Amino acid sequence: MTQKLTNWARNITFAAERIDAPSSLDELRGLIAGHAKVRVLGSGHSFNRIADSPGALVSLDGLPQVVEIDTASATVRVSGSVRYAELGRRLHDKGYAVPNMASLPHISVAGSCATATHGSGDGNGSLATSVSAIEMVTAGGDLVALERGGEAFDGAVVALGALGAVVGLTLDVVPAFEVRQYVYDSLPVEALDDHFEDIVSRAYSVSMFTDWRASRIDQVWVKERVGQVTDPAPLPSLFGATPAGGPRHPVPGMPAVHCTQQLGVPGPWFERLPHFRPDFTPSSGEELQSEYMVARHDAVAALHALGELREHIAPVLQISEIRTIAADRQWLSPFYERDAVAFHFTWIKDPAAVLPVLGLIEDRLAPFAPRPHWGKLFTVPPATLQARYPRLHDFQALAQRYDPTAKFANDFVTEHVLAGA
Ligand SMILES: Cc1cc2nc3c(=O)[nH]c(=O)nc-3n(C[C@H](O)[C@H](O)[C@H](O)COP(=O)(O)OP(=O)(O)OC[C@H]3O[C@@H](n4cnc5c(N)ncnc54)[C@H](O)[C@@H]3O)c2cc1C
Repeated sequence: MTQKLTNWARNITFAAERIDAPSSLDELRGLIAGHAKVRVLGSGHSFNRIADSPGALVSLDGLPQVVEIDTASATVRVSGSVRYAELGRRLHDKGYAVPNMASLPHISVAGSCATATHGSGDGNGSLATSVSAIEMVTAGGDLVALERGGEAFDGAVVALGALGAVVGLTLDVVPAFEVRQYVYDSLPVEALDDHFEDIVSRAYSVSMFTDWRASRIDQVWVKERVGQVTDPAPLPSLFGATPAGGPRHPVPGMPAVHCTQQLGVPGPWFERLPHFRPDFTPSSGEELQSEYMVARHDAVAALHALGELREHIAPVLQISEIRTIAADRQWLSPFYERDAVAFHFTWIKDPAAVLPVLGLIEDRLAPFAPRPHWGKLFTVPPATLQARYPRLHDFQALAQRYDPTAKFANDFVTEHVLAGA
């Protein structure tokens, strides 16, 4: 029996029977030109049908891996299949960094940017905001290059795979930096009423984890840039939370060995900004995920709204994470023109139990017009979702220009983004 192709979480079985893996750019161009329906699969870490294809599914893993640093322009050019783990190591070796990373380094740069994947930090935009140029193979097999500042660029990076196969991305880099990570235990949730801003602005990147079972934030992860904070010791109390006595994993019961070094030991940015180490399973490994972004100024009100649902959330939850992300100008970004707070949920792997709770959360957050993470589970009706993206019609026009026969469209993108064009 042939094994079915699935995403990382194994909650999605792809329609394609196999994955094409061209070994050269020309082969990829021919393959795309020859298919009526095609889509690129990155590292498969999305939780919904965004990466599925009704026709061919293509991996770029067989193409030459490129990580080219240009010191004159302070940029790095990566090919379409490079993972952040590889990029991090290669950049650091040469004294460079990208400004931020997601919770895990296992994911591809192209797939992450396509869904506006993000880390945390008041001043940090999504990972897609580092992209200054993009090269993609469009429907006819043509190679198209777009640069920041160009008329279509803000629609082309967070593009959900709908414009073409991204074979190259140029990212801004910064000088390498060191990070020190402290975890604080047990923050009384009331502290957020008056001190949400104080806590999230405490360091370069801050994440709060709660299981919604008690009125507390179980863990606060504080990632400080070495040199930016004068006193390297942890605070004796962070608004009532106390420094953890040992390393922590955010998911209750999971071993902390899966996680990046804590307890204030300084280390390179790419080994501290993600929560999980590249050679271990990230998160719990048996899970579903959702995430909703609302405006930062609504953070506390949204937190209270979610708190009213705790008896529905807690039974189907492994852990929730709260992060902040800076606004950007990318048309399909959930952070479009809105400094945001993201409410993330790592659920038990039981869609039938989880999906009704998503509906409750979406109703409760509706006054804040939440934009869901494109790569995670949500049930927001397409028309409601579309109304939350002021540049949606511009994106639809862009898709029509680069992909007039909807070769790269799949059911997910058609339903949520292209419908009504
Ligand atoms: C354990 C875990 C932790 C996570 N943590 C975070 C987090 O901290 N922050 C966050 O924001 N998200 C997080 N995510 C979600 C994840 O970052 C996104 O789902 C992201 O899209 C994964 O990248 P990928 O390469 O696996 O993309 P895939 O799931 O493979 O694809 C996503 C989309 O990108 C398209 N695509 C991929 N590669 C290309 C290409 N070369 N050209 C054109 N289109 C392409 C696909 O067609 C699809 O539409 C997490 C996921 C998991 C499983």
